[in-house]
This record gives sequence, structure tokens and C-alpha cells, in this order.
Amino acid sequence: MVQELKNQSESLIDLPTDMNAMLFYGPEDIRYEKVKTPEINDYEILVKVESVLTCGTDLKTYLRGHPVLIKETPALFGHQFSGIVVKVGKNVSKFKIGDKVIPVNSSPCFKCLYCKSEKYSLCENIFFLNGAYADYVKVPKEIVENNTHKIPENTPFEIAAILESLAVVKHGLDRSEIEKGKTVCIIGTGSIGLLFIALAKREGVKIISLGRNESKLRLAKELGADHVVNIRDTSSENIMQKTKDLTGGFGPDVVIEAVGIPEIWELATKIVSRGGLVNFFGGCKKGSKVEIDTFRLHYDELKVLGVFHHTPKYVKKALELLSEKQFQDNVLRKITTKKMKLSELKEAFLLQKSGEVVQVAIEPDCKERL
Ligand SMILES: [Zn+2]
Ligand SMILES: [Zn+2]
Repeated sequence: MVQELKNQSESLIDLPTDMNAMLFYGPEDIRYEKVKTPEINDYEILVKVESVLTCGTDLKTYLRGHPVLIKETPALFGHQFSGIVVKVGKNVSKFKIGDKVIPVNSSPCFKCLYCKSEKYSLCENIFFLNGAYADYVKVPKEIVENNTHKIPENTPFEIAAILESLAVVKHGLDRSEIEKGKTVCIIGTGSIGLLFIALAKREGVKIISLGRNESKLRLAKELGADHVVNIRDTSSENIMQKTKDLTGGFGPDVVIEAVGIPEIWELATKIVSRGGLVNFFGGCKKGSKVEIDTFRLHYDELKVLGVFHHTPKYVKKALELLSEKQFQDNVLRKITTKKMKLSELKEAFLLQKSGEVVQVAIEPDCKERL
């Protein structure tokens, strides 16, 4: 079939000039509309979206907008997806029509000062891809070249789409001085918090999971948390006491904040042990401020750090993990438990907000509902 094509920029099927997409108009205002199917240049590929996950960032965007990803409205959004290549630019040799791929949502430039010192997540010219709540997505040159991967064999689209989250968690964990025997407290039980638990477990640490939703805390336990604590309506003094009790009076060696709320950042600095490390992994609303006790920082020698996003190296590591059948079954299938149609995106966000599901796989032509 491919041989019949005169050149690579032709497509496998006749692509419609218009496609369905969910557009962001403003907080809590998204609309299912027809837009033009993207055109590609010689260095780009067009991917038919098979599955796109309602990542926590998208839920935040739906509720309050996004200062970096959404500059003007209406805007296409959605970024954690997998699909099939349906059109290939003339100068693209890495991919062909029909390939099943995961285009990750960004690429560093490899040229700026930060990239030259291998701090790729700080890249000054990072290229972002946004717009996967649609039938088709155009993948820009930089991401085609540096951060698009073929889906490992026997991996369903909705499982493959989680690659980006896995990569950020690999990055976050690698920077957290995790060592066998330490106690790690993970705050938050969204997909990122849960992946932190599953991955930390593989490092032989003791895990305390803090969250506010009973069913997600049960899942946290299933994925490897040794102790779970529901912190809903609990004072930070009580949480400090509880985490001390679970660690022989010392507090956890490492605390990873995977929520993105200033009060939870502050809580993290209160519960960590003396000489411990706090990883502020959940980004807060722009302009947020936190108060940290300087006594704790100085006399208790805390290490506090922010870790953002992923880098191509962690995407590759995540891809290896993604291809493990056991990891797919024991972890990933438990995190993405529901499939819905693109037109039902709003309902999906509301379900996720209520805590009833961790995340939803949105499939433009969803036939089999989970
Ligand atoms: Zn994401
Ligand atoms: Zn750069």
C-alpha cells in the first residue's frame, strides 16, 4: 500500500479538511467544534490521535487557564497522547505512514546555555506541543526529531500515552537522593503521585502516602505505599505527629510534593526529617508565595529543590519501563481506568476533579467504553 504512494508527503487516507476538536475558551468553558485539519511542512508529521489522557495539568487548565501553555483563546489543548502517523513531511526519515507513535509534549533546543550544560528542563527555547484534544495533531520538527517514539509492541494506545508522566516522575525521583532503606513521603494521589509511589517502590524504600481521597489512598497502597494517611480536615500539627510516629520520631528522609498548593509545600517542609530533602514537584499558581521556617532550613539543614518537567534522557528511560508487561498490568492499567469520547471531555474532567477516577483516556473515536 505504501509503495503506491508517489512521495512521502502524501497521506495514507484522504484526510478531511475539517476535524473535531475541543477548544479552550476560558476557565470552565470548553467547546467541541470543527476546526481546520492542520497542514504540515516538510519536516513535520501529522498524527491521528488514538488516545489522549486527561493529565492533571489539563484539569488545572480547564479550571483556571494556564499561564505558559495557553496564551490566547480559543486554543487547542491536551498533550499526553499516542496515535498513528497519517502524513509525513518529505524530509522526515525517522517515521513512515502507519507507525504507531508517542510524540512527547516538548523538546529542548540543544543550543542554549542551559542545554549546553545538559540542564534540558531549563531550556530557554523549549518547544511545546499542545492540542491533542482533537482528531489530528501536527508534530513540530523539533519534537519529531528529538522526542517522538514508536510505541513498544503489545502496548495499547491508552497505556502508551502515559509516557510523559512516567518521564517526569523518573526525573523527579532521580533528583531526590532516593536510596534503599530511606523513608519517602509522597504527598498527592493524582497520576503523578501514584506513579511516584510505584517507581519509588522499585528502589526499596519505605513509602508514606498522604492524600485526601479514600479510594485513591487504597490504590496508593496497592501500588506500594507502606502507610497511607488521609489528611483531609487534619491540621498540619497532626500530620507532623503522624508522620513522626511512622518514622521512629524522625520524620521522612525525603518528601515529594506532587500537589502544587502553597500550603502543601509548607507542610512538606514541616514534616521532613532533619537533614532531609524536600522536592517541590507540583507547580503552584503563578505568583504564589510560601513561608518556610528559617530555623528548619538552616539549623535542621534541609535541602529543598524544585524539579520541573522531563528531558529526552528520562523519556527514553520511561519508554523502557513502559514496555514492561508487568508494569503495564500492575501499575498503568490501574491509573487509567476509564475511556470516554472527545465530546465528553468536560464530563471526564469533572469525574477526575471529584476523585472518582485518577484520569481518563479520551479517544476521538471511542468504541469500546471502559
Ligand atoms: Zn502532562
Ligand atoms: Zn535549550
